[in-house]
This record gives sequence, structure tokens and C-alpha cells, in this order.
Amino acid sequence: MSALLLPTLLLLQQDEIRARALALHRGAIVLDTHSDVTPDFEEEGYDFSERHADGHMDLPRMAEGGLDVEFLSIYMGKVEGPGTGPGTAVHRAIRRIDAAWEMTRRHPDRAEMALTAADARRIVGVGKIAFFMGMEGGHMIEDDLAALRTFHRLGVRYLTLTHSFHTNWADSAGIGSPLEPRHRGLTDFGRAVVREMNRLGMVVDLSHVSEETFRDAMETTEAPPMASHSSCRALSDHPRNLTDEQIRAIAKKGGTVQINFYSGFIDPEFRKASEKRRTTLEPQVAKLREKHGADTPEFRAARRELMARHPLPKTPLKVLVDHVDHAIRVAGADHVGLGADWDGIEALPEGMEDCSKLPALTEALLRRGHDEAVVRKVLGENTLRVLEACEEVARRLGESRERK
Ligand SMILES: [Zn+2]
Repeated sequence: MSALLLPTLLLLQQDEIRARALALHRGAIVLDTHSDVTPDFEEEGYDFSERHADGHMDLPRMAEGGLDVEFLSIYMGKVEGPGTGPGTAVHRAIRRIDAAWEMTRRHPDRAEMALTAADARRIVGVGKIAFFMGMEGGHMIEDDLAALRTFHRLGVRYLTLTHSFHTNWADSAGIGSPLEPRHRGLTDFGRAVVREMNRLGMVVDLSHVSEETFRDAMETTEAPPMASHSSCRALSDHPRNLTDEQIRAIAKKGGTVQINFYSGFIDPEFRKASEKRRTTLEPQVAKLREKHGADTPEFRAARRELMARHPLPKTPLKVLVDHVDHAIRVAGADHVGLGADWDGIEALPEGMEDCSKLPALTEALLRRGHDEAVVRKVLGENTLRVLEACEEVARRLGESRERK
């Protein structure tokens, strides 16, 4: 073989895997279960059909990345401060849900809201992007099952039992140093919430919850649960990641672990650098919060700008692929999916800077030796199966109640 031929052959082989990955990616239903882009929809003049220079997601970049189905997070931080009280969280959630529906109404040729797994398949089948809504934080139901049911009627298809703080009925894992437990898991009302979610066909989302809440929810739920945006604690010891035992428990119930892409969760090196930066910039962030108000688009933009001026080391894409790999090894190929946390995080791995880069993940998984059927499951089929299973449980529970 000539000295030139070998490198040429290797290049051809590389190209072949890339081409195979692209074809697989385009042909598969690619589904992600966590995007925090939703607050942008409430901004005056924001247009999701335009390509934006910042953030991780918009319709053009979704099309480019072959991202077919996305769960828009009805995201909400702690409701506190002047002008808040009973009703505030419900009202803010309604506004966010409305903004998600309004986005789909403004772009009927490209986007549509899905309420069932079958809806998602139909919408993707006609070449549009399907959106679901997932509610991030049980505090939004304000301790009322009527609110939970109403949110379901408005289209919400999963509820993350807690955000990064305790509710009146469930403990959270927190986001940094561990929180002092308040209920040691779910209260009786918390268990009633889980049972009602099963009856409605709303997926029980276990991202963000404490280990005790996780245990109680697993004990209570009849339907397969999901961790909508969590990675592997065995590779990166962060309270937002799942232990191998938790990953196996989710798999045993037929659920899925949706891998979070955030460098701060998946990469211990990045986390160290990031913690150092956080301490240094804390006073400046506090000033911005004071100036713009917490949870406002202005605050988020100003904080983003401040962080951009103090960049952190990039996480290699390999680290993300390691988490997907690990979850597949621990849970099995039927129990892993994607929950990147788009626009809810400050850093993504190199080569995965926004959702347009998703085909790189498909390519990396093929290069790791996963076969196409496994990759297709991880890209979306597993999550669709969980949704279908939850719909089935709801039907069964509905029928048994009617007979009573
Ligand atoms: Zn989250």
C-alpha cells in the first residue's frame, strides 16, 4: 500500500460513519425533554422562527440539528418577594403555558403542540416540530390537585416534583450543597399528587428531587417515571445527577434517564473552575439581580453577558458521550434518552454549543460501537414509549374507576 493510500482510506472510513450517522439522525425521531427557552417567549418582540446568535435553541437551529420533538419547560424559580402571594405561581405558570401555545400559534407551518405520543409522531411525520410542555417544579400547583388537573388539561405532560428547593409536600436535592431535609421524602399529599399524575397520564419527573423523595415517588407511582434532565453521579458527583442504584430503579419501572448536557453537572473539572468563578463574581451577580429583579429576561441577559466576559474551560464532547454510555450500561439501552437542559444552563460541551449540533452526538455514539437500533432508541423512541406507557396506565386507571 502506498504511503498516501492509508490516510485516504481512513478518511473515507470517517466520512462513511459521518454519512451513516447523518442518515440515521435524519430518519430517527429526535426528542429532548428539557428546554428552558420558554421564558423568552414572554418577551416583547422575541421571534422563535429567527436564528439567534445567543442561547441554544430556535426553530432554524432545531431544524438544522434534526431536533423533532422538544419539551418546553414551564420553568419557574422560587416565588418570593414583593407582590407575590397565594395565586402568584399559578398565574405565572398560566402565562408561561400561554406563551408556549402562542409560539406554536404564530408558526403553524413549522411548529405544533403535542398532547400525546401519537400526536408527536403525526406532527413529525408531516415535517413539523412537535412541542410538549413539562412543568418544572411542584410548587406551581400551590398544594391543590385542582391546579394539577387544570395544568394537565392545558397540555402539561410531565411535572418535576420539585425544583431546586423543597415544596410543602416534597424534598428537593438542591443545586449545590445538600439541603436540610424538610419532609424526608413525600408527604401524604405528595403521594396523592403522584397517584393523580398516574391517573391523568402525566409523567412523574424525578430530576431535582432528593433521594428520599425519589424513593417515595418510586414506591408510589404505577407508571414509568422519567428523570427529564439528569446525568450520572458515578462519573460526576453532583447532587443533580443520579446514582447507579437510582438509574437501575428507573429502568426496573420501565422509565428513562434523560441525560443532561450541562458541563457543570457532567464534568468535575468544569465544575471546579465554575465554582471558583461563582465565588468571585457573586457580588456582581447580586447587584444585577437587585437592578433587574430575579427571574426577569433582563437579569438573565445581563448575567449571561457577565459570564461571557469570564469564560470557563470547554468540556470535551467525549465527557457527554461517556454519560450516555454509562447510563446505557447501567440501565440498558431501553432506558436512556436526552434532556439537554437547553437555555437553562451556561455551558455545553465543545461541539455541542447549541441544538443544531445534535448530529455530532449520533455520530459519536456510532463511533463508540452502538448499533443503529440502540441509537434510535436513545434519540427518541425510548421517551415516546414512556409517554405511551403513561397514557396506557391513565386509561387503565380511568376504566377501573368507572367500573367502581
Ligand atoms: Zn432543571
